[in-house]
Amino acid sequence: MRDPVHCWLVTNGKTHVLVDSGMPDIEEVRRTLKVDGYGGGHGSLRSALAEHSLTPADIQYVISTHLHFDHGTNLDLFPNACVVLQRDEIFHAIDPVPTQRIYYNREMIGELIKRKRPSQLRLIDGDLQFMKGLLLLKLPSHTPGMQVPIVTTQAGRAALVSDLGDHYRYWFPADPRATDKPMRFIADTFLPSPIRSAGEREYLAAMQRVVDHSDIVVPAHDFRIPMHMPQEWFAIPESTATDLAHQPPPERK
Ligand SMILES: [Zn+2]
Repeated sequence: MRDPVHCWLVTNGKTHVLVDSGMPDIEEVRRTLKVDGYGGGHGSLRSALAEHSLTPADIQYVISTHLHFDHGTNLDLFPNACVVLQRDEIFHAIDPVPTQRIYYNREMIGELIKRKRPSQLRLIDGDLQFMKGLLLLKLPSHTPGMQVPIVTTQAGRAALVSDLGDHYRYWFPADPRATDKPMRFIADTFLPSPIRSAGEREYLAAMQRVVDHSDIVVPAHDFRIPMHMPQEWFAIPESTATDLAHQPPPERK
């Protein structure tokens, strides 16, 4: 795989929220999608949480931006956490636009709707101030039930945009720091990514809403993002070096 798959730990020190739950173990990805890489599955999540002295049981909420397999797998690792989703995303997962059929996993959706207790699954409709410093924006674009968490930090507001513009080049299409192929004719706007359920104008309006509500955007599949916020904080990377790197960085121990 040439792109990273990111999940986020959002915490105020008391409440621990996971934004997206990642992809299956790479063995399964290799088998089903014939792409190579490393990581994924329960092991990656456990070790990433352990870096913050946390275990999966410490996660109270899992906010799923959408249910594509690389963002919504591994929910079984968090049986007592509350999964928070837009209601429209469930419907789309069951009957997606045809080009997105390969991105949804039926077994995963089945496991999700087996969550019986209201404390295990919360379906929402629209924007929600989820808690202090954590706003959810519903933004039909990449999928009809796409939601983007806006996290207020000491440095400013970070939009965890997930796959709504999953690389910097979609947000800064004319900037040579963001893309090797600057598109000057759209310097005043954004570039919608090709994987989308919405039309181009609706997609652009969703991106504009994110910008109106945030100070930086953090795309899900770009290698160049700030990994620890707010300690690392930038709106745009310094250069295109490592963008679309065909060699992933060395595996972390
Ligand atoms: Zn996606």
